[in-house]
Amino acid sequence: MRDLLARTAHELLEEIGSGDLDHNALMETQLGFAREIDGELNGFTAWADFQGEPGWELDLSPDRPQGLSRMPYAAKDLFATRGLATTAGSRILEGYAPDFDASVVGHLREARNHLVGKTNMDEFAMGSSGENSAYGPTRNPWDRTRVAGGSSSGSASAVAACQSFMALGTDTGGSIRIPASFCGVVGYRPTYGLLSRYGMVAYSSSCDQAGTFTRSTLDAALAMNTMSHPDPLDSTCRASEGIDYYQSAKQAVHWNKLRVGTIRQFSDPAKIDAAVLANYERSLDILREAGASITELDFSVADYCIPAYYVITAAECSSNLARYDGIRYGAEPEGRELLERYIDVRSRGFGEEVKRRVLLGTYVLSSGYFDAYYNRARAMRAEISRSMAEMFSQVDVILCPTSPNVAFGIGERMDDPVAMYMSDLCTVFVNLAGLCGLSMPNGFAAAGDEQLPTSVQFVCPGFHDSLLLRICAQFEQLSDWHYTPPAWVLKQLGA
Ligand code: GLN
Repeated sequence: MRDLLARTAHELLEEIGSGDLDHNALMETQLGFAREIDGELNGFTAWADFQGEPGWELDLSPDRPQGLSRMPYAAKDLFATRGLATTAGSRILEGYAPDFDASVVGHLREARNHLVGKTNMDEFAMGSSGENSAYGPTRNPWDRTRVAGGSSSGSASAVAACQSFMALGTDTGGSIRIPASFCGVVGYRPTYGLLSRYGMVAYSSSCDQAGTFTRSTLDAALAMNTMSHPDPLDSTCRASEGIDYYQSAKQAVHWNKLRVGTIRQFSDPAKIDAAVLANYERSLDILREAGASITELDFSVADYCIPAYYVITAAECSSNLARYDGIRYGAEPEGRELLERYIDVRSRGFGEEVKRRVLLGTYVLSSGYFDAYYNRARAMRAEISRSMAEMFSQVDVILCPTSPNVAFGIGERMDDPVAMYMSDLCTVFVNLAGLCGLSMPNGFAAAGDEQLPTSVQFVCPGFHDSLLLRICAQFEQLSDWHYTPPAWVLKQLGA
């Protein structure tokens, strides 16, 4: 049965549906394999247990479209999971096990999907490499001396290394798309508001968004059908019932009517590695040959995306993280005075990057600097949104590389936070402007002795997720990319 672990969810769902495959056995095999190889990857922070569910009949309301069900999945360690440790990769939440499920986890559970475990991540989702985790870095399944990308590092490596068919991640500025690109899987960041944020540990509330890692776009669409529902517990949730992302993704695209945009600033050889650009050009050629028209667009405010993003998210994080005060969460602090106790618990509990952002955020929100930094960043954000709206009046979808480079070595960028922040060059505009984006593997690039995955990013306007998923699913058919696990994983699978 192990060889099934390298397949896609939608293929296996058909076999489960027709009675050819026992989902309990699949789950047991999945759990066993995930644990067996995780010593090589450090992708998981906690394992769920599984007793098997004999009468595991699926009894969903018939008016709901077909979604992901009865499949093993993993969740980034910032989704609240009832009874299972939820630490957001931080020492400060050590020992915290919520007594409730995040809304998306609840929907997955209701559809009888079973959790494999919680996945490693940059502390509070702050990072681009996975190295800011209190549990140590996740290793990239394609080359275990390299990072898996961040912040949803463990979720990306889990799907790439056959430890799970789907994994939940969050993407505040690229944390799904970047690790998906480094690990060679599909990473989808839905429009802000399409999935409830209830039960997600908050980093930057105006940008945080849940999404998925899968081995095909159709699997991402299936997961959306299961998870995207209105939620009274999240006032920013704007999902509506009745949209069938899966059926929509299977429809044909009229390529000769499709208007594709590229962004000049994101194909600049001074900023993007040659191998990444070469594969990106190949993806554009595929679309061109299919009949799509391709227009180069000028994103004149591109250089402001990273500064605006890091000011806004730092400001929001300094406010969101104020709740970790050693009273409601965190280890028992030392000291008699309240201030002493705050200082003690936060100094010990937070890692270096989180402290840097809390300080930066407090600074940009302080009365003397509020206008100079925070308000200017907000004005830039509005300008970025305007600029994107203007581009989407000319094209249906925008393509750009997901990441300027392939996965880098563990430790390589840790001394230079600004170099690390630049990893998000081509991703943060999606979050700032409320768009939807999907990172799709598009080839490999040689790095040392290894071949490492590269990806292309597809971006559509907010709430055009059905269109985005359709374009990506159909592009996947045109392209020569189909998920295959790294050679050592295949060997472990005995396949
Ligand atoms: N790398 C970005 C940051 O550190 C994005 C993180 C994310 O999307 N959660 O903020």
